[in-house]
Amino acid sequence: MKIILMGPPGSGKGTQASHIAGIVGVDSVSSGDLFRDNLSKNTELGLLAKSFMEKGEYVPDDVTIDMVMNWIEEPKHSAGFVIDGFPRTLKQAKALDEKLLESGGVDRVVFFDVPEEDLVRRLSGRLICSSCQTPFHKMFSPPKEENCCDNCGDVLYQREDDRPDVVRNRLHVYTRETEPVVDYFEKVGNLRRIDASLAINKVRESLEEVVR
Ligand SMILES: [Zn+2]
Repeated sequence: MKIILMGPPGSGKGTQASHIAGIVGVDSVSSGDLFRDNLSKNTELGLLAKSFMEKGEYVPDDVTIDMVMNWIEEPKHSAGFVIDGFPRTLKQAKALDEKLLESGGVDRVVFFDVPEEDLVRRLSGRLICSSCQTPFHKMFSPPKEENCCDNCGDVLYQREDDRPDVVRNRLHVYTRETEPVVDYFEKVGNLRRIDASLAINKVRESLEEVVR
């Protein structure tokens, strides 16, 4: 069973990846895991990726593709896997399909649907204490007193990256980038959408259903 999980930041696919992998009995990996792994082990691909990142440039598709392909080629992943956050571009999607051509391609691509406003609330809710750096969240772990740190009583602030307009922009970039990938898998016929705005256990149930 070869499963791909797609969805914008904040859609919760990361927490569901290892769960569904456990049920299906395969390994799961995220593109972020593979980057960290290659960077920390100083692999050829890791060093290549680093050279772009140090210049403040995007890591080219080919480098990401090779990292994922190396992982897929490991014998223990030949029977199946769950990949979270890849492919993100049409080029990556085509490379993946080509790679899996002989073994029948991707079995299921699951897209985690969440309305933009929900995502903005989830992703822009983080508040940090200006002295002890303790993180809070407006929805999930609010401070006892508004804008006041539970630990030291100092004032809380919002990081620049967490501002609603910055978050919204990040989401638009994601949608623009992945729309062609969604269209591609929709044409192939293996894409399923699930409502990921629901509670975690509901999302888990619908994920199990579309993978079955
Ligand atoms: Zn504090």
